[in-house]
Amino acid sequence: MKLLLEGARQLGLSLTGEHLRMFQVYYGELVAWNARFNLTAITDYEQVQVRHFLDSLSCVRALVGTDYLLPVTLAGPALRLARPLTCIDVGSGAGFPGLPLKIVFPRLHLTLLEATGKKVTFLEHMVERLGLEEVMVIKGRAEELGQMPGHRERYDLVLARAVAELPALAEYLLPLCRLGGLCIAQKGIEAQAEVASAQAALAILGGELRRIIPVELPGLAETRHLVVLEKTARTPEKYPRRPGMPTKRPL
Ligand code: SAM
Repeated sequence: MKLLLEGARQLGLSLTGEHLRMFQVYYGELVAWNARFNLTAITDYEQVQVRHFLDSLSCVRALVGTDYLLPVTLAGPALRLARPLTCIDVGSGAGFPGLPLKIVFPRLHLTLLEATGKKVTFLEHMVERLGLEEVMVIKGRAEELGQMPGHRERYDLVLARAVAELPALAEYLLPLCRLGGLCIAQKGIEAQAEVASAQAALAILGGELRRIIPVELPGLAETRHLVVLEKTARTPEKYPRRPGMPTKRPL
């Protein structure tokens, strides 16, 4: 786990032996279950460390300078959450980015939302295998959860990686985010263009672009991007529309 350890250090995270043990278990289970469940195309030991674990942890870059993290002087050498945050990972797949963040920030109250049953089974197994507390795994769609009172406008932090293009993704994420909360969409090189095409959706749904943060990962040629949105106005009740509509007819 050398690549992970060094990459995390560059993000301001100091991983302990226990963290590394948990990531090792996660790697072993991901590869073991992948044969049957087809969870990921990436199974190489070093590639998983970079493209799954570090890429997930890179979300922390969007929190630096916000009141979600303790000021660095108070936190000491490693970044820490300022308080228990409610967080939802939408379309979590095999747990990215939610589970690596939970390993490093145990005070995260994490919800993993995933539409596909076999991936939900894996997520439930992983949560139990890692002994994680305050993690809820839900089988369902963002369009449904966004209309449920227990989830709508409830989360401090809403995350998604590789789920949909930003105009549709905004309709998944913003209804779940509390007023003043943050959404982070992990994107590749197409981030700027997606933001440009999502302007109407953001205005309708109550989101504003805060930052686009470029992220370089060790050994990766392509630059990744964190698109950071702030929820600045309530989402009108009619959004999200019924399942399938956000991608079929993006705002
Ligand atoms: N976030 C993970 C990652 O980056 O490795 C998984 C990415 S995978 C390409 C997209 C996942 O989002 C799939 O597992 C799919 O089932 C889920 N998904 C797509 N649309 C969804 C929706 N509307 N609600 C919930 N999950 C959704």
